Amino acid sequence: MAVKTYRAAVTIKIDHDECIGAGECVNVCPSDVYELVNGKSTAPRVEDCVECCACVEACPTKAIEHSSC
Ligand code: SF4
Repeated sequence: MAVKTYRAAVTIKIDHDECIGAGECVNVCPSDVYELVNGKSTAPRVEDCVECCACVEACPTKAIEHSSC
């Protein structure tokens, strides 16, 4: 019998009114999820997230809302 495990989809919301482009999420993320675009954080590789919550803790303006953290 084949065994499959399913992981709930992670969602990351970044408030671009709060984001100051500090890049802490880019620096701290072990999975390279984030990228700065025009001075704002984006999460183009959210599917690589390992749900460590380091980005949420590192953000100086608390601009990141993470479904698991
Ligand atoms: S929770 Fe961890 S792995 Fe996921 S985006 Fe944040 S820093 Fe990266």
